[in-house]
Amino acid sequence: TARLVIKIGSNQLVDPANGLPRANIFESLAADIAALRQRGAKCVLVTSGAVAFGRHRLGLPMCRALALDEKQAAAAVGQLLLAEAWARAFSQHDILTGQALLCPEDTEHPVRLRNASNTFERLFQLGVLPLVNENDTVATEELRYGDNDCLAARLTSLVRAEGLILLSDIDGLYTKDPSVSPDASPIEHVPFSALAGLDCGGPPRAGGPGTGGMASKLDAARIAVASGCWAVIARASDRPLGAPRQTMRLTFFAPDAA
Ligand code: ADP
Repeated sequence: TARLVIKIGSNQLVDPANGLPRANIFESLAADIAALRQRGAKCVLVTSGAVAFGRHRLGLPMCRALALDEKQAAAAVGQLLLAEAWARAFSQHDILTGQALLCPEDTEHPVRLRNASNTFERLFQLGVLPLVNENDTVATEELRYGDNDCLAARLTSLVRAEGLILLSDIDGLYTKDPSVSPDASPIEHVPFSALAGLDCGGPPRAGGPGTGGMASKLDAARIAVASGCWAVIARASDRPLGAPRQTMRLTFFAPDAA
């Protein structure tokens, strides 16, 4: 059966107008993951959004930068809200969720790696959908993945995934950042041989809560593809429940073997 690591960023989950969860996105991704599971796929969901939800609940203004300890406190509060929102969305499909908060040592240190890998294996056996996030409450600047694109890429080998799906606010990779260059054109297929030379990935959209930008998604694709996993960058869909799925554009990164 296929194993997939799916990552969604805070840009998609948080309504920038009020800092609240965008219910449509939670529901529509839960429905899609439920459909994948019915076809036998085993999925892991890497989800950001804790700091954004926490700062809203704590009443910390969205417009100013947070000090590190404030950010970590916001993550502590927001992580519960985030997990709760996912648990609610998945419970509509009778899917039980579990939470794993990781730091780089968990995927780089051999003993911890084996431990974490066994836990994911058991969660799969129990039919639980693992929700994963960086352990932002304790992670320090020097010792963190930096963004969930990288965390998701590291997870692909930990759970022996065959695919990595990065869901963003944009429908794939372009030759330049289309938000600043209107003449940017989409790139649909990136063969293994072309990935190393690609450097068109820019920073996240200015003013948004995103942290990685396209550069970190390209790095994530490189990590996944180098270990034989395919990767996709696609737009997260917020269609209302029950609305038909639309075909959409995306960027596919082929692994070594393809
Ligand atoms: P997410 O929350 O999904 O991680 P980010 O804001 O971090 O979102 O990254 C997506 C953004 O990266 C896009 O909205 C776009 O403005 C920017 N970007 C920079 N370079 C590119 C590129 N070459 N192709 C597509 N998007 C790009």
